Formats: sequence, structure tokens, C-alpha cells
Amino acid sequence: MKRLTELVQFDPCPGDIHRANSTPIYQTATFAQESLDHFGQYDYSRSGNPTRTVAENFIAKLERGTHGFLFNSGMSAINTVLGLLKAGDHIIAGDDLYGGTHRLLSERLTQRGITFTLVDTTHLAAVLEACQTNTRMIFIETPSNPLQKITDLTKLALLAQHKNLLLVVDNTFLSPWSQNPLSLGADIVIHSATKHLAGHSDVTAGAVIVKDEGLAKKIAFIQNAEGSALTPFESWLLIRSLKTLGLRVERQERVALTVANYLEAHPLIKKIYYPGLSHHPGHDIHKKQAKGFGSVISIVTESLDISRKIISNVKLFTLSVSFGSLNSLISLPCQMSHASKPQNTESIPQHLIRLSIGIEDADDLIQDLEQALNKSDNNFWETRERRVAAK
Ligand SMILES: *Cc1c(COP(=O)(O)O)cnc(C)c1O
Repeated sequence: MKRLTELVQFDPCPGDIHRANSTPIYQTATFAQESLDHFGQYDYSRSGNPTRTVAENFIAKLERGTHGFLFNSGMSAINTVLGLLKAGDHIIAGDDLYGGTHRLLSERLTQRGITFTLVDTTHLAAVLEACQTNTRMIFIETPSNPLQKITDLTKLALLAQHKNLLLVVDNTFLSPWSQNPLSLGADIVIHSATKHLAGHSDVTAGAVIVKDEGLAKKIAFIQNAEGSALTPFESWLLIRSLKTLGLRVERQERVALTVANYLEAHPLIKKIYYPGLSHHPGHDIHKKQAKGFGSVISIVTESLDISRKIISNVKLFTLSVSFGSLNSLISLPCQMSHASKPQNTESIPQHLIRLSIGIEDADDLIQDLEQALNKSDNNFWETRERRVAAK
């Protein structure tokens, strides 16, 4: 089956006598036992729920894994994976991770006696150098957020295997539609399902996907022990969203590339980060390991003042954290999603703007950006020629 077909051709209600076409929401906390000695598949929804099972199998299949687990947030999913480690262990983490992940590592994991080193994982030599005898895990995002640094997944997976380390990839940025790290050798994939998987800014959820029975057992144990699983209703909302994942992401990526090409040529934009542009560092590696370029574009202008003006002048881009939604969003990561990140990590320019592209018409988005850019620089017409010449 081709991937778009796979998204809608699946059994929505295994074992259900009514053969519903939409997965029923099993809004129950408990399940009756057949007898004292006979347990059914389900007993308590913290441990397992039929609606959640359909959603978990769906996401496992999408990521080319064997087992999927859904959590009440992306952070909860990440915390569960980090729960595989014990006091004395060490993690190598990418130096441009999601702010919340960095906060979890620095404020919570260290309290449990787990140490970490931030490494620019685009350089494999730097990863090797950071390996200690107690290193157990490499945790990365590629493309990273918001600087869109590209790590070679196949090579890093070989290194991890060689050193007997778990390779964990937070694949939120691209979604399983555009990249499948398990197929490239990663051991664990994580998602903030709040982003592309849900896609409508209406669900907070997280996912963990593995391809190894032993790891699956450990994750299931932590999910149950810590009580962090997703509710039946939110699981149902996710199933509903996943059916259109391909349509949404393909469309968003197409619009994003058009907008990125426009921004790249614009004299007011000093720097643009988007893996779809041929000059983007790691563009060729990304093309080898991913099926799409994502729908987030980061841009840097000449000053914080200009960036702030652009943000207040756009009309179609909602000022909001997050990405992967149907409608386009704009944010200033340093003051928003990444504010929890200390200054000593990979520095994000204060005036970096992050655009999350939705499914709107590209012409409308470009027209909106054009008017916002023109209005945002008082000296725009005087300096335009100088900037064009400098580009
Ligand atoms: C949003 C995000 C998270 C956190 O997920 P929540 O659902 O907000 O808890 C983790 N990683 C990345 C890359 C994210 O973008």
C-alpha cells in the first residue's frame, strides 16, 4: 500500500461487533474481568484503552516501528524515554534542542544524578569526543529547532551502535510523513503530537515509537507506572488528524518552499534557515534521509527592532508558539518557545523570527509578508539598493 492509502485504510475498531467506521471512544476507566482467573485484554485505562491502542498502532506504523505509545504531552513522552536511564548515566544531547527538553535535562535529570553534554551533532567527531564510559544515550533533533541544523542520521546511528548507545530522535519538526529515523538506524523516535500529528492546535499529546520488543516493554512499564498515557478522547482526536497527515504536510511543505524562496530573495532578510534551500548547510544529507523539507522557516533581519515590527505588522500569521498547524504562525523563539533555554547553549539570535507555514494560499502569505516587511523598516527605500548590492 502506498502511504496516502495507508493513512485511511486500516481497521478503525478491531473486534468491535458493530464495525464502526470511526474508532469508538471507549470513555471508560475500567473494564470488567471475565472471571477471577480470566483477564481480558484491558482492565484499566491507565494501562491500556482500545481507542488509545488504535492510535498507538497507527503512529507505530507511520514511523515504521513495531510499538507506539501515546502520552499526555510531548514532554511526558521525552520524560518517559529519559526514564530509561539511572543515576550515574550520561547523555549526549544536541546543542539546539527544544527549550523544554533542555530544561528537563538541566533542571530535572541532573537532580536524579544523570549528566549530559551538549554537542553539535552535525560533527560526528564531536560526538565521539563527548562519549564517556557511562554514556548511554544520544538525544537529537534533525533538523534542529529553530536553527535547522542537519545531523546525518545513518552515520550517527552507526556510531551509536558501535558505542552501544541508544539513539533517540525527536522527530517532531518533520513528522513521520517526512522522515522515519527508525528506518535509518535510530532506536527510539519521539514526537510532540501537539504539532504536525494533531495539526489543528487542539490537542496536547506526545508519542514514543520503538522497533525493539525489549525497549517496548520498558516504555510500557514506565507509561503505566507513571500514569502519563493519553486519554481516550484525545487519542480519538489524534486518529482523526492522522488520516489527513499526508495531505496537510505535503501541502504545508509545498507552500513553505515557495515562501522560503521569496524570503531568500528579499533584501531585508539577512539570513534564512530552511533545509529546502540548496545553500542550507546539510541540504544534501537532509535530502538523502528525509522525504520533505518541513514547514518551518527561520529568518534573521538586521535588528530586533525590525523583527518586532514585522511580527506586529503581519496580518495572516498568528503570533503564537508551536508549529505544524493548518494556519500559519509567527514567533520570536528567544522570547517565546525557547525562553527556558539558558544563554550558554547554541545561541539563537535575539531577532530570529520563526514562521510556521500552514495550508493557506502561498500568494496570500507572501503578500502579507511583503507588506509587513516594507512597513517594518523606516529606511527601507534608502537602503534597499545597498542591501541588494550586498546580497
Ligand atoms: C513542542 C515540542 C516538544 C514538547 O511537546 P509538548 O507537546 O509541548 O509537551 C518537544 N520537542 C519538540 C521538538 C517540540 O517542538
